[in-house]
Amino acid sequence: MTKALLLIDIQNGFCPGGNLPVAEGDAVVPVANRLIESRAYDLIVASQDWHPANHGSFASQHEGKMPFDMGELSGQPQVMWPDHCVQGTADAEFHPDLKTAHIDYIQRKGENPAVDSYSAFRDNDKAALTGLSGWLKQKGVTALDIMGLATDYCVKFSALDAVDMLPDVKVRLIADGCRGIDAKGVEEAIEAMRRAGVEITDSSMITA
Ligand SMILES: [Zn+2]
Repeated sequence: MTKALLLIDIQNGFCPGGNLPVAEGDAVVPVANRLIESRAYDLIVASQDWHPANHGSFASQHEGKMPFDMGELSGQPQVMWPDHCVQGTADAEFHPDLKTAHIDYIQRKGENPAVDSYSAFRDNDKAALTGLSGWLKQKGVTALDIMGLATDYCVKFSALDAVDMLPDVKVRLIADGCRGIDAKGVEEAIEAMRRAGVEITDSSMITA
């Protein structure tokens, strides 16, 4: 059995003080650090939202759009986000307290300005893969625990893609290691993950 922990977008941009802050986003950092140091995992993987400054998910790139308006990108409805996690800026860096020295693989995403990539596995139009599923397969991963930011977007779509693209891998969500943007969205996201076959667990259940 090869166990991997997938940390979704634990970046300054999604924490208080960032450009797209999730309430209490920084509260997931101690949970991540405890798991990283728990020896419960063979591999630690982190995703990093990594946008060019002209990314199409930014309201600033669409005339007349304000952040959090609905718009369209790659032929699909798209939330217009504030500019966030721009490549090379402090906003895109991992939270400074995250124990990044123990991360085995970093999967960047959202680099194509023409499409958003909530999932760490593939773009929202499902056309281009990031490479993470191939890496996990190559490492022989059989169990994948997922946590991070934000529950109702990048965590949700990563978990749904994990069960879809890695049918032989047992996928779990570490619920207390996640924070979301919208309370109702978080509830619906957890239900969607559960329905898809993701086991919902808590970091207190995880021991080496
Ligand atoms: Zn983004």
